Amino acid sequence: RLVEVEQISFEEDKSEVNLRPSSWDDYIGQEKIKKNLKVFIEASKKREEALDHILFYGPPGLGKTTLSYLISNEMNSNIKITAGPMIEKSGDLAAILTNLEEGDILFIDEIHRLSPAVEEILYPAMEDYRLDIIIGSGPAAQTVKIDLPRFTLIGATTRAGMLSNPLRERFGMHFRMQFYDNEELAKIIQKASVKLNKICADDAALEISRRSRGTPRVALRLLRRVRDFAEVENEETIIKQRCNYALDELGVNDSGFDEMDINLLELLVSNKGKPMGLSTIAAALSEDEGTIEDAIEPYLLANGFIERTARGRVASVKTYEMFRLSYPETEKV
Ligand code: ATP
Repeated sequence: RLVEVEQISFEEDKSEVNLRPSSWDDYIGQEKIKKNLKVFIEASKKREEALDHILFYGPPGLGKTTLSYLISNEMNSNIKITAGPMIEKSGDLAAILTNLEEGDILFIDEIHRLSPAVEEILYPAMEDYRLDIIIGSGPAAQTVKIDLPRFTLIGATTRAGMLSNPLRERFGMHFRMQFYDNEELAKIIQKASVKLNKICADDAALEISRRSRGTPRVALRLLRRVRDFAEVENEETIIKQRCNYALDELGVNDSGFDEMDINLLELLVSNKGKPMGLSTIAAALSEDEGTIEDAIEPYLLANGFIERTARGRVASVKTYEMFRLSYPETEKV
Protein backbone atom coordinates (compact mmCIF):
# COMPACT_ATOMS: atom_id res chain seq x y z
CA ARG A 1 0.00 0.00 0.00
CA LEU A 2 1.29 3.44 -0.88
CA VAL A 3 -0.55 5.47 1.75
CA GLU A 4 -2.31 4.27 4.87
CA VAL A 5 -5.58 6.02 5.68
CA GLU A 6 -8.68 5.37 7.71
CA GLN A 7 -12.04 5.10 6.00
CA ILE A 8 -13.98 8.37 6.18
CA SER A 9 -17.61 7.42 5.79
CA PHE A 10 -20.18 9.76 4.29
CA GLU A 11 -22.53 9.10 7.21
CA GLU A 12 -23.83 12.14 9.03
CA ASP A 13 -22.46 12.54 12.52
CA LYS A 14 -25.62 12.40 14.59
CA SER A 15 -24.09 13.25 17.97
CA GLU A 16 -25.34 15.88 20.46
CA VAL A 17 -25.16 19.50 19.22
CA ASN A 18 -26.86 20.33 15.94
CA LEU A 19 -24.34 22.13 13.77
CA ARG A 20 -26.71 22.88 10.89
CA PRO A 21 -26.72 26.60 10.08
CA SER A 22 -30.06 28.31 10.70
CA SER A 23 -29.46 31.58 8.82
CA TRP A 24 -28.08 32.65 5.44
CA ASP A 25 -25.14 34.29 7.21
CA ASP A 26 -24.18 31.02 8.82
CA TYR A 27 -24.42 29.21 5.51
CA ILE A 28 -20.93 29.74 4.12
CA GLY A 29 -20.00 29.56 0.43
CA GLN A 30 -22.15 28.56 -2.57
CA GLU A 31 -22.43 32.33 -3.09
CA LYS A 32 -23.95 32.20 -6.56
CA ILE A 33 -26.66 29.80 -5.49
CA LYS A 34 -27.47 31.84 -2.40
CA LYS A 35 -27.62 35.08 -4.40
CA ASN A 36 -29.99 33.61 -6.98
CA LEU A 37 -32.16 31.92 -4.38
CA LYS A 38 -32.59 35.15 -2.44
CA VAL A 39 -33.87 36.88 -5.60
CA PHE A 40 -36.30 34.09 -6.45
CA ILE A 41 -37.56 33.88 -2.88
CA GLU A 42 -38.15 37.62 -2.68
CA ALA A 43 -39.94 37.65 -6.04
CA SER A 44 -42.25 34.80 -5.12
CA LYS A 45 -43.01 36.42 -1.75
CA LYS A 46 -43.91 39.68 -3.54
CA ARG A 47 -46.22 37.83 -5.91
CA GLU A 48 -47.56 35.81 -2.99
CA GLU A 49 -47.00 32.65 -4.99
CA ALA A 50 -45.38 29.37 -4.08
CA LEU A 51 -41.69 29.25 -4.97
CA ASP A 52 -40.96 27.38 -8.18
CA HIS A 53 -39.65 23.80 -7.86
CA ILE A 54 -35.92 23.50 -7.20
CA LEU A 55 -33.40 20.80 -8.06
CA PHE A 56 -30.10 20.62 -6.16
CA TYR A 57 -27.47 18.28 -7.45
CA GLY A 58 -23.92 17.41 -6.49
CA PRO A 59 -21.91 15.06 -4.25
CA PRO A 60 -23.11 14.16 -0.74
CA GLY A 61 -22.52 16.39 2.28
CA LEU A 62 -22.24 19.72 0.43
CA GLY A 63 -25.30 21.28 2.04
CA LYS A 64 -28.37 20.49 -0.09
CA THR A 65 -30.59 19.56 2.85
CA THR A 66 -29.35 22.56 4.86
CA LEU A 67 -30.18 24.94 2.01
CA SER A 68 -33.67 23.48 1.80
CA TYR A 69 -34.24 24.16 5.51
CA LEU A 70 -33.03 27.73 5.01
CA ILE A 71 -35.44 28.22 2.10
CA SER A 72 -38.35 27.00 4.20
CA ASN A 73 -37.32 29.43 6.99
CA GLU A 74 -37.14 32.28 4.54
CA MET A 75 -40.52 31.42 3.00
CA ASN A 76 -42.08 30.91 6.46
CA SER A 77 -43.32 27.56 5.30
CA ASN A 78 -43.35 24.02 6.63
CA ILE A 79 -40.90 21.55 5.19
CA LYS A 80 -41.65 17.84 4.82
CA ILE A 81 -38.63 15.64 4.28
CA THR A 82 -38.60 12.31 2.51
CA ALA A 83 -36.36 10.35 0.16
CA GLY A 84 -36.83 8.60 -3.18
CA PRO A 85 -36.35 5.04 -1.87
CA MET A 86 -38.94 5.63 0.87
CA ILE A 87 -41.73 6.28 -1.65
CA GLU A 88 -42.36 2.82 -2.97
CA LYS A 89 -45.84 3.05 -4.47
CA SER A 90 -47.76 5.82 -6.22
CA GLY A 91 -50.22 5.67 -3.32
CA ASP A 92 -47.42 6.64 -0.89
CA LEU A 93 -46.69 9.77 -2.87
CA ALA A 94 -50.40 10.56 -3.29
CA ALA A 95 -50.78 10.42 0.50
CA ILE A 96 -47.82 12.78 1.02
CA LEU A 97 -49.09 15.24 -1.59
CA THR A 98 -52.66 15.35 -0.32
CA ASN A 99 -51.39 16.09 3.19
CA LEU A 100 -49.48 19.19 2.08
CA GLU A 101 -50.73 22.66 2.87
CA GLU A 102 -50.59 25.81 0.74
CA GLY A 103 -46.96 27.00 0.41
CA ASP A 104 -45.43 23.87 1.99
CA ILE A 105 -42.07 22.61 0.85
CA LEU A 106 -41.68 18.95 0.01
CA PHE A 107 -38.04 17.87 0.06
CA ILE A 108 -37.27 14.60 -1.73
CA ASP A 109 -33.68 13.45 -1.25
CA GLU A 110 -32.22 10.97 -3.75
CA ILE A 111 -35.01 11.91 -6.12
CA HIS A 112 -33.33 9.92 -8.93
CA ARG A 113 -34.41 6.76 -7.10
CA LEU A 114 -38.16 7.28 -7.59
CA SER A 115 -39.77 4.55 -9.64
CA PRO A 116 -41.27 5.51 -13.03
CA ALA A 117 -44.82 4.87 -11.71
CA VAL A 118 -44.26 7.28 -8.81
CA GLU A 119 -42.66 9.83 -11.13
CA GLU A 120 -45.80 9.81 -13.30
CA ILE A 121 -47.78 11.05 -10.31
CA LEU A 122 -45.33 13.89 -9.80
CA TYR A 123 -45.66 15.38 -13.30
CA PRO A 124 -49.19 16.85 -13.01
CA ALA A 125 -48.61 17.58 -9.32
CA MET A 126 -45.59 19.75 -10.16
CA GLU A 127 -47.04 21.35 -13.25
CA ASP A 128 -50.70 21.95 -12.43
CA TYR A 129 -50.89 21.16 -8.70
CA ARG A 130 -53.16 18.27 -9.57
CA LEU A 131 -53.26 14.63 -8.68
CA ASP A 132 -54.51 12.23 -11.36
CA ILE A 133 -55.61 8.98 -9.82
CA ILE A 134 -56.64 6.09 -12.02
CA ILE A 135 -59.40 3.96 -10.56
CA GLY A 136 -60.07 0.51 -11.97
CA SER A 137 -58.35 -0.99 -14.99
CA GLY A 138 -58.95 -1.74 -18.65
CA PRO A 139 -61.75 0.04 -20.58
CA ALA A 140 -63.65 0.81 -17.36
CA ALA A 141 -60.69 2.68 -15.83
CA GLN A 142 -61.43 6.25 -14.78
CA THR A 143 -59.17 9.14 -13.93
CA VAL A 144 -60.11 11.14 -10.87
CA LYS A 145 -58.50 14.57 -10.60
CA ILE A 146 -57.80 16.06 -7.20
CA ASP A 147 -56.58 19.62 -6.74
CA LEU A 148 -53.48 20.03 -4.61
CA PRO A 149 -52.32 23.06 -2.65
CA ARG A 150 -49.59 25.12 -4.31
CA PHE A 151 -46.41 23.62 -2.94
CA THR A 152 -42.71 23.72 -3.75
CA LEU A 153 -40.87 20.52 -4.52
CA ILE A 154 -37.16 20.53 -3.72
CA GLY A 155 -35.41 17.55 -5.24
CA ALA A 156 -31.87 16.63 -4.25
CA THR A 157 -29.71 14.20 -6.12
CA THR A 158 -26.11 13.18 -6.39
CA ARG A 159 -26.76 12.30 -10.03
CA ALA A 160 -28.66 14.77 -12.19
CA GLY A 161 -27.90 12.52 -15.14
CA MET A 162 -30.02 9.72 -13.68
CA LEU A 163 -33.14 11.89 -13.61
CA SER A 164 -35.55 11.36 -16.47
CA ASN A 165 -35.86 14.33 -18.83
CA PRO A 166 -39.54 15.02 -18.11
CA LEU A 167 -38.85 15.17 -14.38
CA ARG A 168 -35.75 17.34 -14.73
CA GLU A 169 -37.57 19.78 -16.98
CA ARG A 170 -40.33 20.32 -14.44
CA PHE A 171 -37.94 21.96 -12.01
CA GLY A 172 -37.87 25.72 -12.56
CA MET A 173 -34.42 26.07 -10.99
CA HIS A 174 -31.40 23.80 -11.21
CA PHE A 175 -28.47 24.37 -8.89
CA ARG A 176 -25.20 22.51 -8.97
CA MET A 177 -23.47 22.39 -5.57
CA GLN A 178 -19.73 23.09 -5.61
CA PHE A 179 -16.96 21.71 -3.41
CA TYR A 180 -15.82 24.23 -0.78
CA ASP A 181 -12.39 25.80 -0.71
CA ASN A 182 -10.25 25.64 2.41
CA GLU A 183 -11.05 29.18 3.55
CA GLU A 184 -14.79 28.50 3.36
CA LEU A 185 -14.44 25.22 5.24
CA ALA A 186 -12.32 26.96 7.86
CA LYS A 187 -15.14 29.47 8.47
CA ILE A 188 -17.67 26.64 8.78
CA ILE A 189 -15.37 24.89 11.26
CA GLN A 190 -14.85 28.01 13.35
CA LYS A 191 -18.57 28.80 13.55
CA ALA A 192 -19.33 25.19 14.47
CA SER A 193 -16.62 25.02 17.11
CA VAL A 194 -18.24 27.96 18.93
CA LYS A 195 -21.43 25.88 19.09
CA LEU A 196 -19.28 23.11 20.56
CA ASN A 197 -17.95 25.54 23.21
CA LYS A 198 -14.44 25.65 21.81
CA ILE A 199 -12.42 28.22 19.95
CA CYS A 200 -10.65 26.91 16.90
CA ALA A 201 -7.44 28.74 15.98
CA ASP A 202 -7.20 29.95 12.37
CA ASP A 203 -4.34 27.64 11.40
CA ALA A 204 -6.05 24.68 13.11
CA ALA A 205 -9.27 25.32 11.18
CA LEU A 206 -7.30 25.46 7.94
CA GLU A 207 -5.55 22.20 8.81
CA ILE A 208 -8.89 20.42 9.32
CA SER A 209 -10.17 21.99 6.08
CA ARG A 210 -7.23 20.70 4.08
CA ARG A 211 -8.13 17.18 5.11
CA SER A 212 -11.88 17.42 4.54
CA ARG A 213 -12.28 16.67 0.84
CA GLY A 214 -13.96 20.04 0.19
CA THR A 215 -16.99 18.76 2.12
CA PRO A 216 -18.60 20.42 5.18
CA ARG A 217 -19.95 17.13 6.50
CA VAL A 218 -16.46 15.63 6.60
CA ALA A 219 -15.02 18.85 8.10
CA LEU A 220 -17.58 18.84 10.90
CA ARG A 221 -16.97 15.20 11.70
CA LEU A 222 -13.23 15.74 11.91
CA LEU A 223 -13.79 18.82 14.06
CA ARG A 224 -15.79 16.76 16.57
CA ARG A 225 -13.02 14.20 16.79
CA VAL A 226 -10.28 16.82 17.18
CA ARG A 227 -12.41 18.48 19.84
CA ASP A 228 -12.39 15.20 21.78
CA PHE A 229 -8.60 15.20 21.79
CA ALA A 230 -8.56 18.84 22.98
CA GLU A 231 -11.13 17.99 25.67
CA VAL A 232 -9.00 15.24 27.11
CA GLU A 233 -6.04 17.66 27.25
CA ASN A 234 -8.27 20.30 28.96
CA GLU A 235 -7.62 22.75 26.15
CA GLU A 236 -10.16 25.55 25.59
CA THR A 237 -8.70 26.38 22.20
CA ILE A 238 -8.19 23.92 19.40
CA ILE A 239 -4.61 24.48 18.28
CA LYS A 240 -2.91 23.31 15.11
CA GLN A 241 -0.51 21.05 16.96
CA ARG A 242 -3.39 19.15 18.62
CA CYS A 243 -5.15 19.03 15.27
CA ASN A 244 -2.21 17.46 13.50
CA TYR A 245 -1.73 14.99 16.30
CA ALA A 246 -5.43 14.01 16.38
CA LEU A 247 -5.82 13.73 12.63
CA ASP A 248 -2.63 11.69 12.34
CA GLU A 249 -3.82 9.44 15.17
CA LEU A 250 -7.11 9.01 13.32
CA GLY A 251 -5.16 8.11 10.21
CA VAL A 252 -6.68 10.91 8.14
CA ASN A 253 -4.49 11.41 5.11
CA ASP A 254 -3.02 14.89 4.97
CA SER A 255 -4.31 15.57 1.48
CA GLY A 256 -7.81 14.78 2.70
CA PHE A 257 -8.23 11.53 0.82
CA ASP A 258 -10.14 8.69 2.36
CA GLU A 259 -9.43 5.02 1.89
CA MET A 260 -11.63 4.64 -1.18
CA ASP A 261 -9.94 7.62 -2.89
CA ILE A 262 -6.56 6.06 -2.32
CA ASN A 263 -7.72 2.63 -3.47
CA LEU A 264 -9.08 4.13 -6.68
CA LEU A 265 -5.96 6.20 -7.36
CA GLU A 266 -3.68 3.23 -6.68
CA LEU A 267 -5.73 1.09 -9.03
CA LEU A 268 -5.50 3.64 -11.84
CA VAL A 269 -1.79 4.16 -11.28
CA SER A 270 -1.25 0.40 -11.42
CA ASN A 271 -2.80 0.44 -14.90
CA LYS A 272 0.20 2.48 -16.07
CA GLY A 273 -1.60 5.23 -17.95
CA LYS A 274 -4.12 3.03 -19.73
CA PRO A 275 -7.77 4.08 -19.24
CA MET A 276 -9.89 1.84 -17.03
CA GLY A 277 -13.65 1.44 -17.48
CA LEU A 278 -16.09 2.15 -14.66
CA SER A 279 -17.30 -1.46 -14.43
CA THR A 280 -13.72 -2.77 -14.15
CA ILE A 281 -12.98 -0.23 -11.41
CA ALA A 282 -16.17 -1.16 -9.57
CA ALA A 283 -15.33 -4.86 -9.70
CA ALA A 284 -11.73 -4.32 -8.59
CA LEU A 285 -12.77 -2.15 -5.63
CA SER A 286 -15.86 -4.28 -4.74
CA GLU A 287 -17.90 -1.08 -4.83
CA ASP A 288 -20.97 -0.30 -6.88
CA GLU A 289 -20.62 1.93 -9.93
CA GLY A 290 -23.06 4.50 -8.54
CA THR A 291 -20.99 5.13 -5.40
CA ILE A 292 -17.86 5.54 -7.46
CA GLU A 293 -19.55 8.02 -9.80
CA ASP A 294 -21.46 9.95 -7.11
CA ALA A 295 -19.30 9.98 -4.04
CA ILE A 296 -15.72 9.11 -4.89
CA GLU A 297 -14.92 10.44 -8.35
CA PRO A 298 -16.33 13.98 -8.24
CA TYR A 299 -13.76 15.29 -5.74
CA LEU A 300 -10.87 13.61 -7.55
CA LEU A 301 -12.06 14.94 -10.91
CA ALA A 302 -12.70 18.45 -9.57
CA ASN A 303 -9.17 18.58 -8.18
CA GLY A 304 -7.46 17.13 -11.22
CA PHE A 305 -6.34 13.80 -9.71
CA ILE A 306 -8.11 11.74 -12.34
CA GLU A 307 -9.28 12.38 -15.87
CA ARG A 308 -12.21 10.92 -17.71
CA THR A 309 -11.59 9.88 -21.30
CA ALA A 310 -13.94 8.22 -23.79
CA ARG A 311 -12.30 4.90 -22.92
CA GLY A 312 -12.32 5.21 -19.15
CA ARG A 313 -10.56 6.84 -16.22
CA VAL A 314 -6.85 7.59 -15.97
CA ALA A 315 -4.71 8.94 -13.13
CA SER A 316 -3.30 12.40 -13.85
CA VAL A 317 0.28 13.63 -13.64
CA LYS A 318 -0.62 15.15 -10.25
CA THR A 319 -1.50 11.70 -8.90
CA TYR A 320 1.75 10.15 -10.08
CA GLU A 321 3.59 13.05 -8.45
CA MET A 322 1.70 12.49 -5.21
CA PHE A 323 2.78 8.86 -5.20
CA ARG A 324 6.30 9.98 -6.19
CA LEU A 325 6.15 7.93 -9.36
CA SER A 326 7.08 9.02 -12.86
CA TYR A 327 4.29 9.52 -15.34
CA PRO A 328 4.14 6.65 -17.87
CA GLU A 329 4.16 8.88 -20.97
CA THR A 330 5.04 6.15 -23.43
CA GLU A 331 2.35 3.72 -22.39
CA LYS A 332 -0.45 6.27 -22.31
CA VAL A 333 -2.94 5.63 -25.11
P1 ATP B 1 -26.71 14.49 1.33
O1 ATP B 1 -26.86 14.70 -0.12
O2 ATP B 1 -25.73 13.41 1.68
O3 ATP B 1 -27.98 14.41 2.10
P2 ATP B 1 -26.40 17.28 1.81
O4 ATP B 1 -25.78 17.89 0.56
O5 ATP B 1 -27.86 17.40 1.95
O6 ATP B 1 -25.94 15.81 1.90
P3 ATP B 1 -26.25 18.54 4.38
O7 ATP B 1 -26.86 17.46 5.20
O8 ATP B 1 -27.09 19.74 4.08
O9 ATP B 1 -25.65 17.95 3.05
O10 ATP B 1 -24.90 19.09 5.05
C1 ATP B 1 -24.05 18.26 5.83
C2 ATP B 1 -23.60 19.01 7.07
O11 ATP B 1 -22.71 20.04 6.68
C3 ATP B 1 -24.75 19.67 7.79
O12 ATP B 1 -24.78 19.17 9.08
C4 ATP B 1 -24.45 21.14 7.85
O13 ATP B 1 -24.36 21.52 9.19
C5 ATP B 1 -23.09 21.30 7.23
N1 ATP B 1 -23.09 22.27 6.12
C6 ATP B 1 -23.33 22.00 4.83
N2 ATP B 1 -23.19 23.08 4.07
C7 ATP B 1 -22.84 24.08 4.89
C8 ATP B 1 -22.54 25.47 4.68
N3 ATP B 1 -22.56 26.00 3.45
N4 ATP B 1 -22.24 26.23 5.74
C9 ATP B 1 -22.19 25.66 6.97
N5 ATP B 1 -22.44 24.36 7.24
C10 ATP B 1 -22.78 23.57 6.21
